[in-house]
Amino acid sequence: MSVKDKIILITGASDGIGKTVALEFAKKGAKLILLGSNGSKLSAVYDQLSGVEKDYHLSLECDLSLLNDKSAIEIEAAILEHYGRLDGIIHNAATLKKMTPLIDLETNLWEKILKVNLTSEFIITKTLLNLIVKEENGRVIFTSSNVATQPKAFWGAYAVSKFAVKGMAELFRQELENIHQIKIFNFDPGPSPTSMREIAFPNEDKETLKSLEKLIPCYEWFFSEESNTTNQHYFKFSDFKI
Ligand code: NDP
Repeated sequence: MSVKDKIILITGASDGIGKTVALEFAKKGAKLILLGSNGSKLSAVYDQLSGVEKDYHLSLECDLSLLNDKSAIEIEAAILEHYGRLDGIIHNAATLKKMTPLIDLETNLWEKILKVNLTSEFIITKTLLNLIVKEENGRVIFTSSNVATQPKAFWGAYAVSKFAVKGMAELFRQELENIHQIKIFNFDPGPSPTSMREIAFPNEDKETLKSLEKLIPCYEWFFSEESNTTNQHYFKFSDFKI
């Protein structure tokens, strides 16, 4: 089970879970394309990455709320220029913004959240798919949440987006896994100590949550040959005996 030399795009790599996956995958020899909207946070992560050669990794500053077909093609071009190929994507970036009743959620926030959490993943997946299907064990990993399966008041457009991502991941899976050697997974990392979690649970003691590093074996497994034969496609952290 190794991610060594795998070329993986991680969205939301500047903070939280995405940052931890980036730092740990880099230690294991993966070549990473880091994507986030905050350039200085992204540079700080890039500077911490392990990588023996200059330009081993690639950093792409991109606000996913503004992503369109043209900018996705630019992302593809940057990956092709830097690496010439791509093994997979971890669609990890997401925004919650705030907890609020739906009737109080501003329409512009609704649109922004759906753009970042859902539409950008659709655009990036369809744009980069041609690269991923050329690889032997191509992967697209979507990120879920318990609010994708159990509606919870006040989770707003974030919950709606995660419901929709679950459906979209399933459609991609049905349409692609039969004709390509690719696996499409959707993973709920469970309660994890990040800035997003703090918005939802400001008074929670972070010490009661698992460390972000505990998620790494799950992501490694998704990229391993071992996961080629599974029929399961929706996973929760608790499915892994960690
Ligand atoms: P964080 O808020 O810590 O990190 C979110 C990441 O998404 C940041 O790197 C941020 O980058 C990026 N991001 C947000 N908006 C944009 C944007 N417009 N354009 C580009 N990148 C953006 O969140 P978590 O690490 O907690 O969440 C990671 C994933 O895990 C999410 O999909 C979340 O839904 C899911 N999840 C988290 C749980 C938890 O308990 N933490 C539980 C269940 C699911 P930047 O600041 O550079 O824009």
